[in-house]
Formats: sequence, C-alpha cells, structure tokens
Amino acid sequence: MSLPNDFRQRFLNELRNRGVSNNCELCNQNNWAFVNEGVALNITDFSTNVRIPQPNIPSVAMICNNCGNIRLFSLGALNLLPIQGGTDNG
Ligand SMILES: [Zn+2]
Repeated sequence: MSLPNDFRQRFLNELRNRGVSNNCELCNQNNWAFVNEGVALNITDFSTNVRIPQPNIPSVAMICNNCGNIRLFSLGALNLLPIQGGTDNG
C-alpha cells in the first residue's frame, strides 16, 4: 500500500525539525529516492521458533541514488504513527 499523498512532506519536515542532515552520511550527496511504501523491519528471536507474522518496527526508507545507502527511519520514533490520509490510489 502506498503511503498517503502528504506523508513524504510530513516525514521530511520531521527530519528537518530534528536536525537530520540532507546529505548522505556515506557520499555526502543530496540525491535521494523516497520509498513510497512502508517498510517492516522484522524483529526475530533466534532462540525460539520464528513466529508468523513476526513483530516488526514500522519504518520508511530513503535510498541514496549515488551510493545506494539505505536510510531506515522508525515511524514511531518520529511520532508518525498511525499513518493517516489518502493514497494515490484513492
Ligand atoms: Zn550516498
């Protein structure tokens, strides 16, 4: 499911308000692709059988178009949960 239309701007505003640099920490360029889908970072306890569905950290990702670095941000830490708003698909 695509993220809501206005989500990208709200997300970028949060990063700006928190002093996150626009430039990639690896190559120092500002050339990002925003992944317009939620990313679920799975949490796994390797000492037990894997549970399905696995608990996860709801996240969003940005990919540096120059070096491929993937920035992954916790939506909860940025106070962006629950995600609300319309999508491109209506
Ligand atoms: Zn980079």
